[in-house]
Amino acid sequence: MKSGLISIIIPSFNEASNIELIYKALDKEFADIHYDYEVLFINDGSTDDTLHYIKKLASNNPRVKYISFTRNFGKEVALLAGFQHVNGDATIVMDADLQHPCSLIKPFIKGFEEGYHQVIAKRNRKGDGRIRSCLSSLYYCIINKIVEVDLRDGIGDFRLLSRKAVEALLMLNEGNRFSKGLFSWIGLNQKIIYYDNVARQNGKSKWSFSKLFNYGIDGVISFNNKPLRLCFYTGAFILLLSLVYIFVNLIMIIRDGITEPGYFTTISAVLFLGGVQLLSLGVIGEYIGRIYYETKKRPHYLIQETNINNGENNESNQ
Ligand code: UDP
Ligand code: MG
Repeated sequence: MKSGLISIIIPSFNEASNIELIYKALDKEFADIHYDYEVLFINDGSTDDTLHYIKKLASNNPRVKYISFTRNFGKEVALLAGFQHVNGDATIVMDADLQHPCSLIKPFIKGFEEGYHQVIAKRNRKGDGRIRSCLSSLYYCIINKIVEVDLRDGIGDFRLLSRKAVEALLMLNEGNRFSKGLFSWIGLNQKIIYYDNVARQNGKSKWSFSKLFNYGIDGVISFNNKPLRLCFYTGAFILLLSLVYIFVNLIMIIRDGITEPGYFTTISAVLFLGGVQLLSLGVIGEYIGRIYYETKKRPHYLIQETNINNGENNESNQ
């Protein structure tokens, strides 16, 4: 007799070579776990044979569910779709590329049975490029000073969430989703499990440097308005400085007359102020852009096909 159901959400984007491997690994792991399980693959607009392999698995195994998007909507949205469609008493989020070891599932479930609502896997940076690790440590150091939610290096989406945690996440309906922040925002009691970083098995990472950089900015912007306030203070400070500068110069001109053409000072003032203004405009633009997208109230994703039976084939979903 099984104690309950564990759902596993696997966002998959061009992971054809990994689908069968991850399913086999999971199946093996669950052989001696006293919970039943379902695996929900979210095919995030893959352009390779990912969907074919997922369907093949699903046709042989009723535990395999899938949702296939009409295009690539991004991992964050894939996770949202997953949360909206799982039935488990607890849900595990993991990547398709076998970087998240199945051996952590037992400790996850143990944590869940101990009453934790989030059991979180934290990896070290073994095998990661040195520059990438340094930049991420620096990023987390800075971001934690800026945003209200607690974000930590090495903690990603790989975790177990109780039903209550999943329901809490579903209440956060924003379109621009920064999962790491959302997971932290909902709170609930948490347990951390440590593991060694594993290299990707097949295919390559979808994270280019520029994607990571944009993701970093999302982290800052999604969770507060401090950057806006920083612009305000910087602007105010510079305005004050320039007023002092103008006042002092005016006095000197009245006293001594114009002695030098002031080329250097003019140019530097223009450049500096121009820079600050552009930066501030950029920050404001970021927020306005987000408001723009949120007000559209578009569905977060569109489903092309699914084997989940609640009549939402080819239907949009919020
Ligand atoms: N992924 C996704 N949609 C995307 C990009 C990635 O569903 O647009 C999935 C991908 O298939 C994998 C997981 O998200 O299962 C993590 O992606 P990846 O391994 O590229 O990230 P990394 O491990 O390098 O952070
Ligand atoms: Mg990966």
